[in-house]
Order: sequence, then C-alpha cells, then structure tokens
Amino acid sequence: MTITEHPTTAPADTAVADSAAALDAARAALRARLLADGVLIDLGSPGLYGRTGVFERVYTAVDAAAVRSQHDLDAEVLRFPPVEPLAAFERTDYIASFPDLAASISGFTGDDRTHRALLAARERGERWESFLQPADLMLTPAVCHPVYGLVGDTVPQEGRSFDIVGDSFRREPSLDPMRLQAFHMHEFVHIGTPASAEAHRDGRIPMMRALLESFGLAIDVVPANDPFFGRVGQMLARNQVEQSLKFEFVTPVYGPDHEPTAISSANLHEDHFGTSFGIRTADGAVAHSACLAFGLERITIALFAAHGTDPDTWPTEVRTALAL
Ligand code: ATP
Ligand code: ZN
Repeated sequence: MTITEHPTTAPADTAVADSAAALDAARAALRARLLADGVLIDLGSPGLYGRTGVFERVYTAVDAAAVRSQHDLDAEVLRFPPVEPLAAFERTDYIASFPDLAASISGFTGDDRTHRALLAARERGERWESFLQPADLMLTPAVCHPVYGLVGDTVPQEGRSFDIVGDSFRREPSLDPMRLQAFHMHEFVHIGTPASAEAHRDGRIPMMRALLESFGLAIDVVPANDPFFGRVGQMLARNQVEQSLKFEFVTPVYGPDHEPTAISSANLHEDHFGTSFGIRTADGAVAHSACLAFGLERITIALFAAHGTDPDTWPTEVRTALAL
C-alpha cells in the first residue's frame, strides 16, 4: 500500500497565517507598550481605555493642529452628545450598512416585580441586561450624523460648513490599540451643491496629507474600503471603491509588511444625506455633502508608535508641527 502525504496547509496559506500571526504580535506589542509606559489604561474590555496626561497632551495638540489646518473654512462650530435619537439614526441608514457596528441604549422601565426578578437573576450570577428596554437612543457612530437633521430643508447655494468633534461608538472589540470601541473624530462637514461638496473633499486632501506628514508620519491616500455588512455590503463596498467616493489617509503603524491603518478620511456622500433628510440647495436641487474626518485617537497612537512614548524626545520638526 502506498501512502501519499498531503501537507495539511498549502505553502501560500501558511504565509498568510504567518503574516496574520505577525500582525497580531505587532498589535499586542504596541498595546503592551502603551499600557506599560502609562499612555493608556486598560479598562478590562477590548478597545476601551482610560487615558493619561501624556496621551491627553498629544491628543489635544493633534486636535488643535487639525483645527488650525481647517481655519480658512470658517466652519460653524457644533457639538453633540455621544448618543442620538433613534429617529435621527434611522434616517442615516447606518443600520442597513453596518448593523454589526451599531449599538443602542437600554433603560429599566419595569415595576418592583421585574426589579426583583432582575436582582434574583443577578444573585444567581446570570446576565440581567435583558430586563432593560430599548430607550430609543443610539450611540453615535459618526459625529456628523446629527447635523443633517438640523440644517432645515434649504442650505444657501454656497453651502454651509461645520466643525464637529465628539464621541463615536462602534461595536468592534479588538486588542488592536488602533481599533477602539469608543473614540473621537473631528469632522469638517460641508453641505452644498454637488460641485461644492466635491471641492470640499478633494480640495482639502492635499492639506490634510501635508498636516499628517508634518507629524513625521508616512502617509498614503488610498480609496477606502469600508466594512459594509453582509452580501449586499460587498456590492456597496465595490461601489465605494469603483466610484472613488471615499479616501483614507493611511500610515504603516505596524511596519511595511502589514496593511497600513486609516487615521483620517475624506468622504463624499453625494446626495445620500440630502435625500434622506430632505435638504436642498437654494436652486431647488438635492443637496450633496462631504466630510473630512480626523481620527483623533488613531493619529495620537500612530504618533506614539512612530516616535516613542515620550513626546519630549520627539524630533523638533514634529513637536513644532504639533506646537508641543
Ligand atoms: P463620514 O461618513 O461622516 O464621512 P465615516 O463614518 O466614514 O465618516 P470613518 O472614515 O469611518 O468615518 O471614520 C473616521 C476616522 O475615525 C477614521 O479615519 C479613523 O481614523 C477613525 N476611526 C474609525 N473607526 C475607529 C475605531 N474603531 N477606533 C479608532 N478610530 C477609528
Ligand atoms: Zn461625517
């Protein structure tokens, strides 16, 4: 009898597995360093961290530099809470594209009896959140969401621009310190004509790139490939790439052998929000919109990864660019 030996894994698969393992190791190493050097504090749930003074110092400098770079936009400043009404969330269609990233708020609305049942379940060491009821509130996944419902049904022909920073929540628990569940993005949003929205996205890409490069980061601008959910999502993702609607500013946080990470984005929504929120320009056409988003924690952590965890030792040009 002859026995033929089949390798259990083809060489190509082995290379992919090795590379994935190496990437996991690089992520774990950066995470361990940020925790050990007192930059971040582990809160015991993947992608949730406390932040220390050194983190905050760099984060604040990054945000201020982002704002300075968009100063000429003369954007209207708006700030929102980290939760949005379900009705507003609905109109963004987020749940159709990213149900796996969405998260809602629940509250207790029961009576004494239900409360006793909850406490009994808790006493038995069981989960008790099923005793809570959906509260018609969603955690905001992108900070520009609330603005589309607030501009009324008409924006002037020259459009309106907004400066919005706030909390974002995306349910993507991960041990990669670049992938948080709770994070902040600073967005510069424009709502106007097709031409003014496109100009907002394209016209500001060079200055965003230059800003991030001035931080001593290697930057590439590439078409975005968002993680749209499911089979329909694959089509949406293809569309996004083919139509070059969204670009990402990526940097090789984990070295040249691994996919770089997006630390900012420039996104043209076309008439997506104009249609669902019923916004028109003065000439009666459906408004278009575009967003520039600075991922504040990602830029901050990319800086620690590139230059070390002590900002006082960073290259002079980098500290100057950040006014640190
Ligand atoms: P919009 O639709 O408003 O244009 P968006 O939803 O497309 O914005 P993204 O491009 O997905 O926004 O996110 C903006 C930035 O936020 C990203 O470039 C990235 O830097 C940061 N970001 C996204 N997800 C995470 C995460 N899980 N952890 C940390 N930062 C993140
Ligand atoms: Zn946005």
